[in-house]
Amino acid sequence: MTQPLLMIPGPVEVDGEVLAAMARPPMGHTGAGFIETFGKCLDDLRDVFAAPDGQPFVVAGSGTLAIELAVANIVELGERAVVVDTGYFSARMADILRRHGAQVESVGAEVGHVPELAAVEAALARGAKLLTVTHVDTSTGVLAPVKELAALARKYNTLIVVDGVCAVGGQEFRQAEWDVDVCLTASQKALAAPPGLALVMARSRALEAFRARKSPVASYYSDWSLWLPVMQAYQARKPAYFGTPAVNLVVALNESVKQIKAEGMEARWARHRKLSAAFKAGAEALGLRQVPVSEDVRAVTLTTMYYPDGVDSTLIGRIGAAGVVVAGGLHPAVAARSFRVGHMGVDGIGQVLTTLAAIEQGLGIKTGAGVAAAQARWLQP
Ligand code: PMP
Repeated sequence: MTQPLLMIPGPVEVDGEVLAAMARPPMGHTGAGFIETFGKCLDDLRDVFAAPDGQPFVVAGSGTLAIELAVANIVELGERAVVVDTGYFSARMADILRRHGAQVESVGAEVGHVPELAAVEAALARGAKLLTVTHVDTSTGVLAPVKELAALARKYNTLIVVDGVCAVGGQEFRQAEWDVDVCLTASQKALAAPPGLALVMARSRALEAFRARKSPVASYYSDWSLWLPVMQAYQARKPAYFGTPAVNLVVALNESVKQIKAEGMEARWARHRKLSAAFKAGAEALGLRQVPVSEDVRAVTLTTMYYPDGVDSTLIGRIGAAGVVVAGGLHPAVAARSFRVGHMGVDGIGQVLTTLAAIEQGLGIKTGAGVAAAQARWLQP
């Protein structure tokens, strides 16, 4: 039997060339071949984040480590951080900030909504070192207005960290133009590589704040003082060592980043927008109401939907039996009532139509209405 189609919000389907790159024998981490691969990958990531002036960090670990790598180097004991709370992963961000000594103020909203900009502004006006935002909250599918929030952070001379784990590489994001200080992600979502790498892109204000610290970074493995010389060495095509890099994953990521660059960021963002619109049109035609309340707060990388009346989480198993893996709910307020479909990375209309067909089978709908609506939306000019 062929592998089921993986349509969860990460890990995602991975291109064969990326898998083949990963399957090569491990390279020595200080040898010329790996130095060139890692150096090129770091250089090219600046295009993916649209941050020509950014300092990339790529470290073995998951997205949660990327959050820690981003904030542990910035906040010090007792400093205030404002968290724009759009769901499960904003709460994790707040936990990590507290663990590193920050006084956290979360600005929340009802599930499916984005907090009011005025409420975020009021929190910033009380003074804060850092504002954090989850670009796409994977538990709710809610998209935060990062550009507007970055402008607010600038107005109050506050650093901004964006959790782009479910966004970078799929959701439009222009780090330098929007003036975002730090953005973090992981390899297994819209970057379309296997899980296992934590990525951070830091710009100068964040690096200055790090250099001006009075206290050491509480986490040894996350300390930029240890990773910065290593990243800079690879970028200068020189050997360096602090912790052994996940060489095969870096080779795989480099292959995926090469494909992303060949597609081009504008084209990639447009493909994700179109794919999302097609999937959402299909879901709507099947009567599936979305968790994010309106178009402007819906992510393009995934769709989060409520089960129809009389349907429960056993639907996931029936969709699986039709060959497609989708994810259950995650945000505690809607976990039992919702499910999630990721459509990012290398996915195309074929994967979206297959997924809708499997959902129709799971729901026992015999009309093909979801597939037809998605197809019609996709074929619109
Ligand atoms: N932030 C967001 C927005 C996420 O979607 C995830 C993972 N789903 C994480 C952080 C944590 O990443 P990981 O599971 O790779 O640690």
